[in-house]
Amino acid sequence: MPSCSLSDVMSEELARQLEEENKSACTSSSEDLLSGEETDTNSDLMLARLLQMQYDRECDTQLRREERKYNGESKVSISFENYRTAHPYDGSESSEDEVDWQDTRDDPYKPDKPQVTPRKGFTGKGKNITTKHDEVLCGRKNTARMDNFAPEVLVGDGLGMDLKLSNQVFNSLKQHCHSEQRRSARLHDKKEHSTAEQAVDPRTRLLMYKMVSAGTLERINGCISTGKESVVFHANGGMLEEQPVPEEVVLKVFKTTLNEFKNRDRYIKDDYRFKDRFSKLNPRKIIRLWAEKEMHNLARMKKAGIPCPEVALLRKHILVLSFIGKDHVPAPKLKDTMLGAADMKTAYYQVLQMMQQLYQECNLVHADLSEYNMLWHQGQVWLIDVSQSVEPSHPHGLQFLFRDCTNVSTFFQKRGVAEAMSVYELFNCVTGLDLTINEEDEAEFLAQIEALEKRNEDHVQKRGKKTFPLSSWDGSPPLKHAADD
Ligand code: ADP
Ligand code: MG
Repeated sequence: MPSCSLSDVMSEELARQLEEENKSACTSSSEDLLSGEETDTNSDLMLARLLQMQYDRECDTQLRREERKYNGESKVSISFENYRTAHPYDGSESSEDEVDWQDTRDDPYKPDKPQVTPRKGFTGKGKNITTKHDEVLCGRKNTARMDNFAPEVLVGDGLGMDLKLSNQVFNSLKQHCHSEQRRSARLHDKKEHSTAEQAVDPRTRLLMYKMVSAGTLERINGCISTGKESVVFHANGGMLEEQPVPEEVVLKVFKTTLNEFKNRDRYIKDDYRFKDRFSKLNPRKIIRLWAEKEMHNLARMKKAGIPCPEVALLRKHILVLSFIGKDHVPAPKLKDTMLGAADMKTAYYQVLQMMQQLYQECNLVHADLSEYNMLWHQGQVWLIDVSQSVEPSHPHGLQFLFRDCTNVSTFFQKRGVAEAMSVYELFNCVTGLDLTINEEDEAEFLAQIEALEKRNEDHVQKRGKKTFPLSSWDGSPPLKHAADD
């Protein structure tokens, strides 16, 4: 710029002249733009830019609309900022739109995480010290702590609202949550309990009702037992396909509450007879397998002449069995009997024989044999509850048998049967094996059992799955489940 004197600068004349020059320059360039006749490339570029700017502006407005629609009233919003055409246009048009729009990357309302007070208990220096007791900080911390309440407690977006909960309020909220939780747990218990009282769920009740209305059962009387895995009812039999159902029967209803069955999986999962089917079924159907399994096991036992209930009918997870007992009075469990010495001895030899038959003729291990699952009826022992019974070749079959032997041996020894064998002798006697017995050393005996099981498994693997074809089944007719309805 050429330098000029102060008087020049102050001269009005110069000012006017400069103003004029400026004006004419402006009009010529705007005329260029508006007339469009100007072929100057510079102006084309300008025009293009102006058009582009207009276009971008419209896009952004549309985007803002969409963003607003997307976020609605929600306090947490999603920003479409990244889709905007970052274009420096003046905000003359921006009205309320602009205010609505929030760039959440730098959101003034976005809550900061509550500050953590360092170990020393305060932050800042001198006058600006903030201690851990600072009301605002504490309040925010309490608000953040609500996140730890049980998931069903809706705490809202306290942090977002910069809510500050006093300790007192926080404590009573917390207490309320705890008592609510306990209350709902109690309610839940009650509900569970009431199902146990009514013993069965609505589906099962419907099935039972259908049996009565079809005449298969004349009447369902009362509940004999509610166990962990089943509920047993007494009922009077009617007619099934023109065949009489025994006058007195029990309905063994396998519980459809699935949890109890989880830890019993291994009885069925590793049973080669059910293996293939097990993996494909949902838990409800697996429960039906238990009923089916009990039916097949009972059939094998019946064939070998072991005293046990007879199967009258299987419908889904309900097994109808002949009643062991008389006139509505079930036979007592062996543990509840007060047998004299002679009877006890008879019972013992019977159990011994039954265990051998079960193992050798039925190719089964009871796997839950104890004084609870043996009934005393008409001067003899009856075996029940065989849904979990497996074949000895089951990966843990021999261990289950050892446990059975332990129960039987302990029971009869306690009841004063002098002839009762030790668990080891009993095991050898039942299996016909000749494992080395060292009364002091259970671990050694168990090790022999495990080695046997291992050998057995290797053997099965080598010879393939076909070694145990389903034709080794008891020969009972293939099972037909009542059609799912
Ligand atoms: P859980 O698997 O629940 O133990 P059980 O088959 O052992 O089922 O049956 C539970 C109880 O019901 C038995 O202890 C017995 O008292 C009674 N019970 C089961 N089956 C019969 C039956 N056929 N006759 C008489 N009582 C039975
Ligand atoms: Mg039982």
